[in-house]
Amino acid sequence: MPTKSRHPETVVLHAGYRSDPTTNAVAVPIYQTTSFQFASPDHAANLFALKELGNIYTRIMNPTHAVLEERIAQLEGGVAALALGSGQAASLFAVQNICQAGDNFVASTDLYGGTWNLFAHTMRQMGIECRFVDPSDPENFRRATDARTRCYYAETLPNPKLHVFPIAEVARIGRELGVPLIMDNTAAPILCRPLDLGAAIVMHSTTKWIGGHGTSIGGVVVDGGNFDWEAHAARHPLLNTPDPSYHGAIWTQAVKPLGPIAYIIKMRVTLLRDIGAAMSPFNAFMFIQGLETLPLRLRQHCANAALVAQHLAHHPKVARVIYPGLMDGALRLRADAALKGGYGSLVGAELVGGREAGRKFIEKLEMFYHVANIGDARSLAIHPATTTHSQLSAEEQAKTGVTDGYVRLSIGLEHPDDIIADLDQALAAI
Ligand code: PLP
Repeated sequence: MPTKSRHPETVVLHAGYRSDPTTNAVAVPIYQTTSFQFASPDHAANLFALKELGNIYTRIMNPTHAVLEERIAQLEGGVAALALGSGQAASLFAVQNICQAGDNFVASTDLYGGTWNLFAHTMRQMGIECRFVDPSDPENFRRATDARTRCYYAETLPNPKLHVFPIAEVARIGRELGVPLIMDNTAAPILCRPLDLGAAIVMHSTTKWIGGHGTSIGGVVVDGGNFDWEAHAARHPLLNTPDPSYHGAIWTQAVKPLGPIAYIIKMRVTLLRDIGAAMSPFNAFMFIQGLETLPLRLRQHCANAALVAQHLAHHPKVARVIYPGLMDGALRLRADAALKGGYGSLVGAELVGGREAGRKFIEKLEMFYHVANIGDARSLAIHPATTTHSQLSAEEQAKTGVTDGYVRLSIGLEHPDDIIADLDQALAAI
């Protein structure tokens, strides 16, 4: 029996799968197949008509993906999920599923740079306007909303600022106006459950902590099943009017007998069908492996990051440490309200010597990897001002929280003494 537990440690090992129905294999098999044979012409017709749910073609669904999807959905407290080829695909699909040309959505300015580009440029070319607002005042989301606003979008724990997003406050405003909040929870799996705080949809780049070993690119979107799309039919025509691409299906009606999964089913059978940003079964297997130890790894990631943050806070060559556990006032209250069990494993350090110190520090690190990734088992570092944020003007950099001396650390699972020793020797050399 797959588990009904709410404990993440159990969910990641038991949700959605007990053993393979034909071979009794305990590990989730990699169903490396494009297609699934239909039992009969009627069976085939029923699957295509969504009268029955079942496997058709791996671009749209696959039994290996299904286990990953169910585990992440249960972990987040949602009703269903969809695995995709990357976090970028998940961000795009999460919004595009309910937005079309002429519509707009409101997003926090504190976003991963790739998401920013996608929203500011590529989606604009598609006729969808992203209105960026400062999240420090949740009311900014209400102010930017009009009749064509379809959703809000933000990250739980956005770097480089690491200011935890006011999830409950913005979700409440959205629910008053019929606007669902989509949360990118990539940097805070398990630590935060945005759906419990009122968000409607959660996405992850599984590339990061869920995969956990820096091996595979992937993404997932989770449907909270907690948003009443029909009650706001005028705001959500894509879910409440006939879809000509699926013989006139009205998604909120068509899948009602299957549960409150209109949003995620539509994404699977229209966007994924048409755009094809599918995850490979092999990568789904890798994410299932990663997921199995995620609660355990995350505890160590958080413990190591807390030690690093404390250590750097007392280092003479560090002007400022950016870490939710060291913030105070409203920012700390927000972090404590949203995060349970740790403050994540990202730590920012502003070095005394500015740009040159930042560059040199990265060069002098010996154990840390110098990469653009985060959430690997290994410790990682980057100097945003000369890399990820180098195309931005000085003013834009400052707005995103990147100063000349800022270095971003993603703290790994090595022994904390070794992590701190590597940081110390690099700081000594600048
Ligand atoms: N969201 C966040 C917070 C990220 O850090 C990233 C990647 O760095 C993405 C989304 C995009 O994910 P991917 O690289 O899997 O496409």
